[in-house]
Formats: sequence, structure tokens, C-alpha cells
Amino acid sequence: MSNRFPELLSKVRELKDLDGVLSLMGWDEETYAPRAGRAPRGRHTATLEGLRHERLTSPALGALIEELVAEPSLDDAQRTMVARIKHRRDRAVKVPEALVRAFAEARSLSLAAWGDARKADDYASFRPHLETIVRLSRERADALGGERYDALLDEYEPGMTKARLIPILAELREGLVPLVRAIAAKKAPDRSFLIGPAFDEELQWQLTLRLLGDLGFDLERGRQDRSAHPFTNTVSEHDVRVTTRIFADNPLSAIFSTIHEAGHGMYEQGFDAAHHGTPLADAPSMGIHESQSRLWENQVGRSRAFWSHYLPELRRLFPAQLGGVELDAFYRAVNVVEPGLIRVDADEVTYNLHILLRFELEIALLSGDLVAKDLPGAWNEKMRAYLGVAPPNDADGCMQDIHWAWGAIGYFPTYSLGNAYSAQLMAAFVRETPDAWGAIGRGNLGVLLSWLRGKVHRSGYLHSAEETVRRATGEALSVKPLLEYLKKKYSEVYGL
Ligand SMILES: [Zn+2]
Repeated sequence: MSNRFPELLSKVRELKDLDGVLSLMGWDEETYAPRAGRAPRGRHTATLEGLRHERLTSPALGALIEELVAEPSLDDAQRTMVARIKHRRDRAVKVPEALVRAFAEARSLSLAAWGDARKADDYASFRPHLETIVRLSRERADALGGERYDALLDEYEPGMTKARLIPILAELREGLVPLVRAIAAKKAPDRSFLIGPAFDEELQWQLTLRLLGDLGFDLERGRQDRSAHPFTNTVSEHDVRVTTRIFADNPLSAIFSTIHEAGHGMYEQGFDAAHHGTPLADAPSMGIHESQSRLWENQVGRSRAFWSHYLPELRRLFPAQLGGVELDAFYRAVNVVEPGLIRVDADEVTYNLHILLRFELEIALLSGDLVAKDLPGAWNEKMRAYLGVAPPNDADGCMQDIHWAWGAIGYFPTYSLGNAYSAQLMAAFVRETPDAWGAIGRGNLGVLLSWLRGKVHRSGYLHSAEETVRRATGEALSVKPLLEYLKKKYSEVYGL
């Protein structure tokens, strides 16, 4: 039983060390690093990324992987680990060094141009950068091989294909467009008591820390800080960083940002300890990662049961603003649906329509059916068709997201997959757990976390995202539970 598997693990650990350091530097850049440090930080990052790429693509690692692929004495988990690292290495090897560098340079120029263009609402100045990003993305996809969009999507959602996503997202559109129309025809619930009055920022911060602890985020193995755009970065399995943002005139922002990132963070803290330092201590896809944040944020955090427990606490913290607010009014206020222009501000009903629009447009850009020049027009047309609103400018239209400027074509659909998975998982949890909503209403959130630990977190990347969800729910990927959940909930909230 002497094979070279331990040697592979030690090489993987080195790669994970570099991942962790890069993640810590990224966290620092978004939280405490001084602005002037940005340029040297860019060099630090580039140097470490170069080192990581060198290690990952080294012929010695390639030879070791090939040897282990043919090694008969490995068990199933070891075989999976070899396959995971092989997948990561194959993708890195296929793209020529010159293209990697060209892409990195184009990306940093594009990001800077996007930031300025967005501020000035000047799409024309961003357009040549987008053209370059699309051209280089095609070259990358062709280097990776197979169907172009699939080659890019595979980075975020391994195994998923455009051909499978098209009917899934079409089913979402057919279910959601009429629901959004029906809701738009009704009077929106009052939320003036939540948006507008001043809520003490320090009290909000204390509340988010309390929520993190209650949800089950381990503050001994992680921390929370503030940033402009909330995110979760993993330094190691024992050091997971989440961030939140606090606005004095909108306490929901901090509450839901914290719950969302806690969902990501608890997943990262929940991998089987036996897998730490291996390719299995990882989420199998961005979609399943997003299912964890969305499940806590929407399925739990916007439920009546959750607020039956937390509203009294909120009233105690903010008696002047919320002292007279009843549970029913509060529940409706956190579930207002409003077809709007901005994806990141979208409610859970309209959100997937924002994704669908981006999915369709990025496919068209990549194939050449749509040229960058015509993007603003195509964007606005789809906004009207799906959401019934059109942006007055490109800054709030096709330039609102960082993804394309950053070169991340193929990322957007993972958000909708996350929403679909979250509804499947929550429905399965409620089916299997006696008095599930009663427990949540009593503030016993540990029941749900334990269920997720057992069904999703612990196995990490032992199975694909779809296989993990299939094992947890007994069902294949489906948007039906999400559509059922949204129709039932919002028919009640809006009296449809
Ligand atoms: Zn997220």
C-alpha cells in the first residue's frame, strides 16, 4: 500500500496555503488597507498568484496526478480528491501563459475604466474594454475546449451546461413574470417605519454580532467586519471572515447582509474536519454556496417564524422607531416586492429575472449575436419585458455589475441555481423535521444548521453540487420548489 498519495496531499496543502494568504489579502484590501497601499497590494497579489499558477501547472504535479489516477489502491474519497485537483490543474494548464497575462492586464484596465465610466454614466468609454474582455473570454473558452459558454461556466458551476440552464431559467421566467405583474398591480405594504428613521449604528452592529452567534457562525473561528460590499473570505477552515454594511436609515441592510454572509460562512466552517487541507474541504460550486446564504437570508430570515422570535428584540433595541409595530406589519415590510433597476437591491421574487436577463445577454455577447455597441439597447428592452421598468441611464443599467468588467462571464446563473437549491433544501428540511417552523419561531436555529451540516456542509466537494442536493432532498435540480414557495408566500403577503 505504498503509493504517492501523501505527496499529493502535501502539494495540495501548499496550494491551499497560497489560496488562504490571497484570500486574507483580499479581505484586508476591502476592509482596513489604506487606499495608497492599493498599487503595491496589486503587485503582492500578482506575485503570489504567479507562484500559485507555477505550482499548480508544474509538470511534476501533472506526473504525480497521472500516476495516482492509475493507482489501484486508492479508496473512493482519495480518488475523488485526485479528480478534484486534476480538474483544477487541467483548467490552469490549458490556457497559455500569454493569454493568462493578457487577460489579467485587460481585467485590471477594464475594472478601472468600468469604475470611472459608471460614475460618469459614460458607456462609450467602457465599451472598448468590454469588447476586449469578450474577445479574450472567447479565446480562453476555446483554449479550455468544448462549448464556449460551458467552458467558462465550468469554472463556477462544474458540470453545468448552457443547454440545461436554458429550460431551467425559462421555467423560472414563465412562473415569475406573471407573478411580478400581479404583485405590481397591488398596493405595497408600508415599510416607512423601517426605511428613513435613524437607527443607531452601534446598536445595529451589536445586533448583527448577536445574530451571527444565534445562527451558529463560530466567532472563535471567524470574525465580522464592515465593508462597502459584504462578502465572505476563507483564510482557513478555522478563520472565516464575513463582512456587513450598516446604514443608519435602513437597518434591514445590515441584518440581511449579516444573515446572508453567515450562510456562506457557516458552510465554510462546516466541512468535515477529516477533509481539512484537502480538495474536499471546498464547496462543489458557487451555486450551492449561494444556496446556503439565500436559504438563511430569505427562507429563514424573511419568514414569519423568524421574526416572531426576533421582533421583540428589535423593538427593545429601537423602541422609538418600532415600539408600536406588530409582527404582521413587520413581516410584510421585510417582504415588499418592487420591480427595480438594481440587481443587488432586488427582492426574492424579481431577483431571478435580473439574472435571466444577464444570462441571455452574456450568451449573446460571447457568441457574437450581440455586439457591445448594442448592449445598452438590448439591456433596456429586456428590463421592460421582464420587469416592466427601464433604466434612465447605463450606470443603473448595463454597467451596474462588476462581473463582466472583471471578466466573469458565466457567473450570473449560479445565483439562480443557488435560489433553486435553497428552496429544494428548505422544503426537504421542513418535510423531514417535526415542528421545523415551531423550532425556528422559538429561536432554535441549531436544528436547521445541524440538518445542513449533515446533508450539505460536511461532505464538501465529495460530490458535485447536483449530487449533494439530490442526496439531501431525493430530487434532481428543479425550480419547482422555488416557484411554489414564492407563489404561496406572496399570494398571502399581497392577497393575490
Ligand atoms: Zn452570496
